[in-house]
Amino acid sequence: MNFRNTLLAGIAVLSMASCGQKSAENSSVDAARKLLDPANMDTTVHPGDNFFQYANGAWLSKNPIPKSETRWGSFNELDENNNAVLHQLLDSVAAITAAPKGSIAQMVGDFYRTGMDSAAIEKAGLAPLNALIARINAIADANGVMAEIALQHTQGIGQLYSFSVSPDDKNVTKQICQFGHGGLGMPGREYYFDNDPRTKAIRDAYQTYLATLHQLMGDDAATAAKNAADIFRLETALAKASLSRVDMRDPYKLYNKFTPDAIGKLTPGIDWTVMLGQLGVKTADSIIVSNPAFYAEIGKQLKATPVDIWKKYLRFHLVNDMAPFLSSSFDQARFGFYGKVMRGQQEQELRWKRVLQVVDGSVGELLGQMYVEKTFKPVAKKRMIELVKNLQQTYAEHIQRLDWMSNETKQKALTKLNGFVNKIGYPDKWKDYSAMTVVNNDYVANILASSQWAYNYNLAKLGRAVDKTEWMMTPPTVNAYYNPGFNEIVFPAGILQYPFFDEHADDAVNYGGIGAVIGHEMTHGFDDQGRLYNADGNLSNWWTSEDSANFTTKANVVVDMYGKIVAIDTTKVNGLLTEGENLADLGGLSIAYDAFKKTKQGQSNEKIDGFTPDQRFFLSWAQVWRANTRPEELAQRLKTDPHSPNEYRCNVPVSNVEAWYKAFDIKPTDKMYRPENERAMVW
Ligand SMILES: [Zn+2]
Repeated sequence: MNFRNTLLAGIAVLSMASCGQKSAENSSVDAARKLLDPANMDTTVHPGDNFFQYANGAWLSKNPIPKSETRWGSFNELDENNNAVLHQLLDSVAAITAAPKGSIAQMVGDFYRTGMDSAAIEKAGLAPLNALIARINAIADANGVMAEIALQHTQGIGQLYSFSVSPDDKNVTKQICQFGHGGLGMPGREYYFDNDPRTKAIRDAYQTYLATLHQLMGDDAATAAKNAADIFRLETALAKASLSRVDMRDPYKLYNKFTPDAIGKLTPGIDWTVMLGQLGVKTADSIIVSNPAFYAEIGKQLKATPVDIWKKYLRFHLVNDMAPFLSSSFDQARFGFYGKVMRGQQEQELRWKRVLQVVDGSVGELLGQMYVEKTFKPVAKKRMIELVKNLQQTYAEHIQRLDWMSNETKQKALTKLNGFVNKIGYPDKWKDYSAMTVVNNDYVANILASSQWAYNYNLAKLGRAVDKTEWMMTPPTVNAYYNPGFNEIVFPAGILQYPFFDEHADDAVNYGGIGAVIGHEMTHGFDDQGRLYNADGNLSNWWTSEDSANFTTKANVVVDMYGKIVAIDTTKVNGLLTEGENLADLGGLSIAYDAFKKTKQGQSNEKIDGFTPDQRFFLSWAQVWRANTRPEELAQRLKTDPHSPNEYRCNVPVSNVEAWYKAFDIKPTDKMYRPENERAMVW
């Protein structure tokens, strides 16, 4: 069950989620100095040899990764500050025992309290899932398999495939049913077929984990081993029919619209009209199926794989998904594979942090109301609006100046740019959770209640007008996103803080931080994916064919530039997977720099701590990306994360910006020097 991933499908986020600890200081006396502390630098490294190390070296060596983390950097530090605030809020509402039923204090408080009640969770063991497991055990045939899966979907348990209601890419005012693939225990098809030593070791460990979990469910060793092998074989067949992550970045490839009858002809064994009915869909003239071959494979496997194996498969995935909320043996087994083996995490995060994430993912706009009331300063929103305006104006100038784009396409690009909707801080209208019941004595029941609520909330969109006020991230989230269907850029309250933004910071620091984040999100509207959507949010070509070809030529330089980087072992950055994010980083930095040059500080030469305004701008940029990363985490991200590793997110963009060369007097003999004719810049 993907609490967050489902919601985030199709939107471009600033950074893939991670969670953190440790605290960073807040600004007070000499704010500007503290916000960019020279003591964090390593000036023994020449800025032109490795800017990331030069700007962050001392910080990197002073801040090893905590045992419970797999990466430790700016995003985590800020997460940690937010967590401290949220922890207090949660403790305070959890202490109220007589809050009125359905109030924020009752729902948030009871949710959190049941999650923290490890004694009750331990005592319950697997019992909270007994009824669901009994239902799976009672399945009689292939039709029963699909019926049970659909029933679980309606309860918010997303087995085998993904299903959601969201705007039709080519007609975004209309909601439509969308079906995607799913059903794998590892994070993507690559894990089933890649043959590098790391992936092979993970694949072996996954099969061991499959057997371990079966033993915990009561199977003897031989049965557990057989079940593990059967499930792995079924998953491998599903993986083979799944798309790669690079393919999944192509919205045209994913846009396959059918009537239920027409898709049925391509997927023998699946009755789509029956399935839609079981999912609670009353009428659907047409649906979108991102990968019909995957459903054809399901149909094939329903026939080829004995029902008994399907039942084991469904039971395993149910328990696997719910393991973090069950007793410690299940929780630990799951952590051993997904945490330790896959990501190199040595210890679990503290329970309160894990429960906090669940509460945020389940009733996030209730918790979010408490959070913004306590932390959000209207001045931050006012300042953000000014920054966005300046960035937008500067972006327009860049578009007008482009030498590779015709006037015709430029006009349309400007219409799209001027049409950006900005959302800053938190939603104008909060989600209504009144249909959800949170109890005070059963954590799993609360998780299932919130999952079911989320399913019903989503399904209710069918046939209704698209609500553009909706947010896809909760207010405390340290992240930002661009949503092409709404043509909007969104900045939750959580990211509007140090080191991204501080009301006391000089402009260089704010423009190098949140300014570049704003530019990054804006550029998503014009990256290789975003450019395919018009100002109204529809997937519709607004480019002349020549301009389109010019864009692709320029973007391919970026693909090749990143694709050459060896990030770990012999594994390179995937230039195609990271294309959109790399374009956004490049565009974001260059637009933010030019916007910064319009400020008073940007036009002065007044040094702070011995650094010029331009130097401070780039140092602030580098500070945002500072992070230590475990090798296992890095390897996983190279396969799954559309963002490049942090060091390259810092270094590659600056090496394409002329102002950085001037600011630090970079010479052709420096390692990061890139000859002018090899530099990339699209926007
Ligand atoms: Zn992004």
